[in-house]
Amino acid sequence: MTLVPRSLYGKLVGAMVVLIGAIGLSYVILALGTTRLYLEEVNQKLHRSLAASLVAENELVRGQTINHEALEQAFHNLMIVNPAIEVYLLDPDGRILAFSAPPGKVRRERIDLAPVAAFLAGGEAFPIRGQDPRDPEGYKVFSAAPIMDGDVLGGYLYVVLGGEAYDSVARVFQGSYILRLAASVAAAGLVLALAAGALSFVWLTRRPRRLSAAVEAFKQSDFQEPLRLSGWRPNPRGDEIDHLGLTVESMSQRMVQQIAQLRQADSTRRDMVANISHDLRTPLTSLQGYLETVLMKGDSLSQEDRRRYVELALKHSQRLGQLTEELFELATLESDEPPIQIESFSLAELVQDVVQKFRLEAEKRQISLDTEIPQDASAVTGDIALIERVLENLIENALRYTPAGGRVCLSLILDAGRVAAQISDTGRGISREELPHIFERFYRVEKARGDAAEGTGLGLAIVKRILQLHDSAIEVESEPGVGTSFRFALPVTG
Ligand code: ADP
Repeated sequence: MTLVPRSLYGKLVGAMVVLIGAIGLSYVILALGTTRLYLEEVNQKLHRSLAASLVAENELVRGQTINHEALEQAFHNLMIVNPAIEVYLLDPDGRILAFSAPPGKVRRERIDLAPVAAFLAGGEAFPIRGQDPRDPEGYKVFSAAPIMDGDVLGGYLYVVLGGEAYDSVARVFQGSYILRLAASVAAAGLVLALAAGALSFVWLTRRPRRLSAAVEAFKQSDFQEPLRLSGWRPNPRGDEIDHLGLTVESMSQRMVQQIAQLRQADSTRRDMVANISHDLRTPLTSLQGYLETVLMKGDSLSQEDRRRYVELALKHSQRLGQLTEELFELATLESDEPPIQIESFSLAELVQDVVQKFRLEAEKRQISLDTEIPQDASAVTGDIALIERVLENLIENALRYTPAGGRVCLSLILDAGRVAAQISDTGRGISREELPHIFERFYRVEKARGDAAEGTGLGLAIVKRILQLHDSAIEVESEPGVGTSFRFALPVTG
């Protein structure tokens, strides 16, 4: 795979390189510093009594004068044993009196005696560094011993250990095969750790990469196609990335669904507005037309015609009124908080009352209107006013679509804790193709709306919505030319 700097993988590898690099570097610095200190400590401890031995072996000060001969001998002996060691003879105040180093290299005239006193007192943590006579700024480990002339302090022998050999860390390093080997092994370990880290990050970032690609594809599809994770099935009991995958997946499904619903709602709204304006416009235009005719023709109209026109105008205004009322009713029922008052009531009594209201209308249409109500019909739970509206709409339709001589029957049937109401007629029926649509708003089988068209196409939509609010459904069975039967049920109170 390519290393994109802004990818999660690139960032992880970058962070790892910085982290391992910092740890490695601090480890190297610590190791070298410690090694150097340790070498100095060992060196100083090893030569702790060197100065004392030299003083004991040679009579360096005799009386108040320096025994140059003995001093030269001591310098010479030491040079043979270890050329890195420098010996200095100090007076009791630390002033340098004589030294073994080549002339010109010594830059100090006196040495601070505090470290010497600490060294002589013993017990102090080693290494103790004293001033380096060859370097005005430098300090080095040393061995020191007082030179006594009888009871009088004649001076100090100050032996600088290691010379210039351990001056720098780099030189310590260069000088040790073991250290070099250890450094190479550590460097190889570091490279291996980096490679292993980089490889494991490829594996660890595999799922986020797939998720990101799937989300991108989802976006490209304009949020139409639900998210599809290829080559990875998130485990519900998995880690955070699995959970993220599952959440994003279900989120995408939800989004697709909601977008589809929004589109559907939008097109329904547009259809509805078109239907409403059409349905309102038709009676309104007729109403205006008749009124204008009456106004324009004035006295030239016969009494009879004038009356007929005004009657037609009235009929259209009534239709307009009914339409707006039903629209308002449906809108209220479909609002977030529809007005519904649940109570217990007798469906049998309600059916009788409603049927009573339609008796005259049925007689006018020469249709027999009957009821079949069992004696023991129990009380039901629901909103009595809304259920009355359901019965009215269904009876109204049954009478409207049944020819003279037909029959409309309302029956109640007790059925497993529910009371079902059935409104059947021997009318013209509804065809199989039309049946699924009759509950839609503004759906009317008779598309051609004549001047005196009855019905608004909202009646069954209102019925369906009211029953929905009662957690109930409306069923319909119909056979063209034979009749139609609507049925709904309400729960028995109790
Ligand atoms: P409308 O106000 O036109 O009656 P509805 O929503 O009440 O509107 O009914 C929708 C359509 O269903 C009607 O146009 C009608 O064709 C059909 N319909 C409803 N009830 C019956 C029935 N009992 N017999 C035959 N057709 C019916």
